[in-house]
Amino acid sequence: MFYSTPNTYNLKPVLYFDAHTHLNLQFEKDWQAVGERAFEEGVSFVNIGADLASSQKALEQAEFFGDGGFCSVGLHPTDGRLVDFGEITTLAEDPKVVAIGECGLDYFHCADEPERRAQVELFKKHLDLAFVLNKPLMVHCRPSVGTFDAYEDLFQILREYQDLGKLPRFNMHFFVGDWLMAQKFLALGGYLSFPGVITFSEQYGEIIKKMPLNRLMSETDAPFAAPVPFRGKRNEPAYVKYVAEKIAELRPETRAVVLAALVQNAQEFFSL
Ligand SMILES: [Zn+2]
Repeated sequence: MFYSTPNTYNLKPVLYFDAHTHLNLQFEKDWQAVGERAFEEGVSFVNIGADLASSQKALEQAEFFGDGGFCSVGLHPTDGRLVDFGEITTLAEDPKVVAIGECGLDYFHCADEPERRAQVELFKKHLDLAFVLNKPLMVHCRPSVGTFDAYEDLFQILREYQDLGKLPRFNMHFFVGDWLMAQKFLALGGYLSFPGVITFSEQYGEIIKKMPLNRLMSETDAPFAAPVPFRGKRNEPAYVKYVAEKIAELRPETRAVVLAALVQNAQEFFSL
């Protein structure tokens, strides 16, 4: 629709998977080259929308990348309240859209009670859409400093949906909770994905080591949060290999088993 001749870059075997990336942000001039570089290195990725414009852009870019292009559409909790959700619904039906989100709760940027309630309502719209379309949910959840408040609230909502038999498959992206909190989301059938932060912080080692391997995914959240050795620079999907290698180091299984699982888990999660 945006490009008459879709490209087919993804001819190489997939060695690594970036489950959450934003080629639609800060890559205005070189997103094609950045995507091609990822494919060259055997990296597959899902390009995540965070508001209406970046969701449209994510879909446009997925079309451009042909067989290797996948995206997700949704409204970040702090960015979406003024958007007509019907626009997201329409985009979400496209077969290139393999997940709904990112969506969720962000109390780090919001202390105001009415606004938090509005975030809950917006999140539920995404949950309903994911369930109806049978697509998985890409969840953003960030608590206020020194608490797990947003995780607690989000967990209650997911449990309500589970009780109703309406809980879609979901991933907690950029997970920053503790092992206790991780177990709650895992018990609901959730996946957890970790970004480059794990290459310079020991904080998530316990969760990565202990959680079931088949619910674990690697991500970059590019252009943010670049892993060592690119810390502080612009991040990109190709760098997910540093995240995956770190996960492999932390896990009890062999490196080959872990790297294969990280690809397979993402392919299963997104139904690719
Ligand atoms: Zn993101």
